[in-house]
Amino acid sequence: MDTEKLITVTSPLLPSLDDFNALLKEIWDSKWITNNGRFHQQLERELADYLKVPYLSLFTNGTLPLITALQALRVTGEVITTPYSFVATTHSLWWNGIKPVFVDIDPANCGIDPEKIEAAITPKTTAIMPVHCYGKPCDTAAIQAIADKYGLKVIYDAAHAFGVEVDGESILNAGDISTLSFHATKVYNTIEGGAMVMHDEKTKQRIDYLKNFGFAGETTVVAPGINSKMDEMRAAYGLLNLRQVDAAIEARGRVARRYREALRDVEGVRFFDDIPGVRHNYSYFPVFIDAEKFGKTRDQLYFEMRDANVLGRRYFYPLISEFSTYRNLPSATRENLPEAYKLADSVICLPMHHALTDADIDRVLKHFGK
Ligand SMILES: *Cc1c(COP(=O)(O)O)cnc(C)c1O
Repeated sequence: MDTEKLITVTSPLLPSLDDFNALLKEIWDSKWITNNGRFHQQLERELADYLKVPYLSLFTNGTLPLITALQALRVTGEVITTPYSFVATTHSLWWNGIKPVFVDIDPANCGIDPEKIEAAITPKTTAIMPVHCYGKPCDTAAIQAIADKYGLKVIYDAAHAFGVEVDGESILNAGDISTLSFHATKVYNTIEGGAMVMHDEKTKQRIDYLKNFGFAGETTVVAPGINSKMDEMRAAYGLLNLRQVDAAIEARGRVARRYREALRDVEGVRFFDDIPGVRHNYSYFPVFIDAEKFGKTRDQLYFEMRDANVLGRRYFYPLISEFSTYRNLPSATRENLPEAYKLADSVICLPMHHALTDADIDRVLKHFGK
């Protein structure tokens, strides 16, 4: 049994090596390997088209656009955010000297609960940083209404939400800025990479300066920028992956449908169904275990699967608010975050990627008595 092939929670979408080599040859011949080269410009255009967003700026990973967005919008003081995410969300606040204020989540979509935001606003609050967790759309209308009422900025960490649309509109158009990650583990990857989505040309210009040390010309530096440029190799790789990402999302959708069919009648297992009108990207397949009804705890299931070479991941456990940097914050308590704690203690993300076979899916489902 445990000699069986390892089934990982994800597997990178890789372009054909021959196609990539052909583009590498072009880059070598041009000797233009970074600094807003031809492939960089082409990928920005094609991604903006594909994602149905007006302006997009490429980054070298998905953390720096978060950090840079906060700089660009001059966010200070306190920012309201979710503890149920990858640590980079809150780290971006810390790197800007901003105090994170954690608000509990809504178990219906695992995003920040808009009904609990207002109580966390203080005179120091300047922004809200929600996460479209697992690519499930936040209640963007409710969040915007609160932001408008109190004059707050909204920066969405949309690292999970590549290609997600609601009624034909990109979820990335919500808020003031959205950020994406193109890390190898994500639905769409450029090995390492990321992007920022903005609404107007002026912001795009400013962001392009900020990700290149603040240079606005050969001898002009307009702001204390950072270096977060994507190189030509990864931009070319990204162009090739963009041609196959729809097929990858379709393949993921098939895996999700098989999981749902099998798990629908299993006691003590909650999972998400598709929402009508939403184009999902199936970036993750989280299930929530009710130990009493299921007959096993989440951790028993996790280790039992691991012993059989089937790797789930406990995303997001522990909560960000439990890490040493953040756990002494006033908002980091279990009393303040009951739903987040409940989900963190019950969640396991099942293997989910484009290359899972029927036999792989069967091996996962065996652990649910299927
Ligand atoms: C992956 C991820 C990031 C960070 O992206 P990197 O490209 O790895 O820097 C940020 N936020 C969330 C929610 C993520 O899942």
